[in-house]
Amino acid sequence: MTGATPSLADVLRPVKHVLLDFDGPVCSVFAGLPAPEVARRLRAGLLASGEQAPSGAENETDPLALLRLIADTRPDLAAMTDGALAELETKAVRLGRPNVGGESVLRACARSGRSVSVVSNNAGVAIAAYLSDHGLSDYVGGVFGRTPGDPSSMKPNPQLLLAAMEAAGSEPEECIFIGDAARDVEAGEAAGVATIGYANKPGKDARLAAAGAVVIVESMQVIADALG
Ligand SMILES: [Mg+2]
Repeated sequence: MTGATPSLADVLRPVKHVLLDFDGPVCSVFAGLPAPEVARRLRAGLLASGEQAPSGAENETDPLALLRLIADTRPDLAAMTDGALAELETKAVRLGRPNVGGESVLRACARSGRSVSVVSNNAGVAIAAYLSDHGLSDYVGGVFGRTPGDPSSMKPNPQLLLAAMEAAGSEPEECIFIGDAARDVEAGEAAGVATIGYANKPGKDARLAAAGAVVIVESMQVIADALG
């Protein structure tokens, strides 16, 4: 180990299979239907079905964290809550905002003969709906959203990354993961895959670097350009 930071081109050269996080790199899922509103609707749905959200859930504004909390405290509600959230996420992506450069990365992968899997804590049905709505389904070989009813499958758990690589028949050394959160980098590390940190907000670069991202970029377009 020399300690030198590799260039983006060096990191991408051996890559045959790109693993791509969804919320952030591809689109902003909750740009139109905000996350706190989704969390509120999820709680309201529980109430409407005669269930109470567990304590600590009232102030949770992150719907995925809320799902995890409910599943941890009330495993019997996990499947129903996950299904309700998947519906809300599907509504949200229809109002979401495509991320600049996200589509370019998909097109650059196709041009350069690299396959792509989307690996995300969001619901697979919502991701598939977004890709279809935007004419991008053909650019993605596999969608690996959280396992329905099992939020423990979410990153930083590496299982979705491992499933994506197994389905593609690819080894970790010929893969790269692109994600915008420390938990993405941690999941990559646990799966044996290097992660490019996409720092789309101020301060994220330090968190991604601390988690062990191999390279950090501030724009998806930079990755698209480097893919050739
Ligand atoms: Mg993300």
